[in-house]
Amino acid sequence: MPDIIHLLPDSVANQIAAGEVIQRPASAVKELLENAVDAGADDIKLVVKNAGKTLIQVIDNGCGMSETDARMSFERHATSKIQQANDLFAIQTLGFRGEALASIAAIAQVELKTKRVEDETGTCIQVEASKVTSQEMCACASGTSFSVKNLFYNIPARRKFLKSDTTELRHVMDEFHRVALVQPGIRFSFYNESRPVYDLPAGNLKQRIVALFGSNFNNRLVPVALESDVVNISGFIGKPEFARKTRGEQFFFTNGRYIRHPYLNHALDAAFKELIPNDAFPTYFIYFKIDPKEIDINIHPTKTEVNFQNNQVVYAMLSSAVRQALGKFNITPSLDFEAGQSPEFPAFSKDKPAIQPQIKVDPDYNPFKSQGGTGSSGSGTFKPQSGRSVQREWEPLFQTEALRNQQPPGQPEVQQNISAKNTDEPIERSNLAFTLNQNYIVTRVKSGLMLIHMQRAMERILFEEFLSSLRSGKGMSQQTLFPVTLQFTAQEAAILKEIQNNLRHLGFDMEEFGDNSFILNGTPTGLNNTDMKDVLDNIIENYKQESAGTTTLKTVNLAKTMAVNMAGRHKWNLEPEEVNALIDRLFATEAPESSPDGKAVVRIINLSEIEDKF
Ligand code: ADP
Ligand code: MG
Repeated sequence: MPDIIHLLPDSVANQIAAGEVIQRPASAVKELLENAVDAGADDIKLVVKNAGKTLIQVIDNGCGMSETDARMSFERHATSKIQQANDLFAIQTLGFRGEALASIAAIAQVELKTKRVEDETGTCIQVEASKVTSQEMCACASGTSFSVKNLFYNIPARRKFLKSDTTELRHVMDEFHRVALVQPGIRFSFYNESRPVYDLPAGNLKQRIVALFGSNFNNRLVPVALESDVVNISGFIGKPEFARKTRGEQFFFTNGRYIRHPYLNHALDAAFKELIPNDAFPTYFIYFKIDPKEIDINIHPTKTEVNFQNNQVVYAMLSSAVRQALGKFNITPSLDFEAGQSPEFPAFSKDKPAIQPQIKVDPDYNPFKSQGGTGSSGSGTFKPQSGRSVQREWEPLFQTEALRNQQPPGQPEVQQNISAKNTDEPIERSNLAFTLNQNYIVTRVKSGLMLIHMQRAMERILFEEFLSSLRSGKGMSQQTLFPVTLQFTAQEAAILKEIQNNLRHLGFDMEEFGDNSFILNGTPTGLNNTDMKDVLDNIIENYKQESAGTTTLKTVNLAKTMAVNMAGRHKWNLEPEEVNALIDRLFATEAPESSPDGKAVVRIINLSEIEDKF
């Protein structure tokens, strides 16, 4: 038998590879616009016909190309933007793969006209299905013009799958918005069928948003700003009252690149949750600036899926920045944290020593003598905090004299011990805390009354417990008296096998029993009397939905599903000691103020608010 393996001709290989980069006219628009931005242009014009199916033209006044570069630009892996693999970790340009032009040229008829400022004449190259059909000198303005005609003309099957002009044009507009929104300093114009759609003058970000989405955005935007060692966050959020019924203007950008990030979306949704109706979506334009070393942009060929090395820190900072922005504009209900300080984050890095947290304690404060409360007035706005620092803010609410005497200020151990029984207290804590309607705990704090949402408090507590079991691999399991057999579908069984380790860490002791069934020998402690099948179904369902995420994200989600499931199954007929225990456990968590879904766990009614009632 003759040998049968042969190399594909370049044109075929290019066509196949092109499919990954160019799915529709909008993908070509994105690549061409990004190239124009990378070329340093400050005036970029986009022209489309038939939603880009017949023509996409991008004209820029950027650096242009030499004759040789113009020819080279159509080669696969031909790029001027990186030299070596290491450069991948310090990318400052939008492109770097050197694939876009090769891909576009493989599946369309392309004309390139380009001239550098220093050259007298320009170069005009025609390429069709990866073949250069003509190359000549030409007279043209400095900069570059790409015309892409008849996209997919040589792959009819592909062309057939393009959607209607209206749909494709919408995708083109989306790409145009994404590029225009990161480059407010560049003038952009957009013509569809020779009619101007946008002419956006160079300006600042707010002007750009208003120019793109209408002058009514002028008074709808609230600035967001947070600077830190790890990431800088800037941009705008829409005021809650203008939230829309469709997921419309929601944008994240990282280092000048539009990104999708469902995990971070969630931070926004959570911050807005209580401020907008359930079926409405917040508007946001959020820009992250982060050391390129901290991100991985290479995980998706079209580069919209970007991952941060430390997703959770970015999440915490984003929530903080957004809540602070909402707070500043008096949009969120106020909690009595001290206002005015910028949030601190425990962002650890290898080269920096860890600093022991400090606690600020007011030594003159005695909750049982001074009714008015010192320091925190009711006018303070909610000051979002992350992890431990929140806990530090909570502590003075409970701080008692005896506790202070036992332990000098500055000892972090105190944090873990906010409820330490105190014999000198004139009133026992148990008398101070009671439940309301089996839903809430009411207790007295320095500045008034604190209400705790029991269900959400439990979710927070369990979430952190599960998360730590998952991370340490040490979950508590209790053996079932009678092992049960549970039946699943093939797909479900596959998922269970995939997350078997995690489930074991949570305390599920299960064995495969063939035919997609499992025997359950042990369950997480505390899950007694619960329908295990139900819990596992929930876990599977959640896992399916979140399966695109990173491992960290999956772990977090798993912990969340478990927590929500279990908290939902609690009876809230608590004895007084149980109430106190719940409070203690809540305030020993990283973020007692919010549930894993970002909902408020704690609310404080200030004395002044109570006084107002009389
Ligand atoms: P990449 O952008 O990933 O480098 P492309 O295939 O998009 O790959 O472009 C290849 C090269 O062609 C770029 O690296 C750049 O040097 C050059 N190029 C493309 N478009 C332009 C333009 N509008 N102006 C100047 N140079 C360009
Ligand atoms: Mg490019």
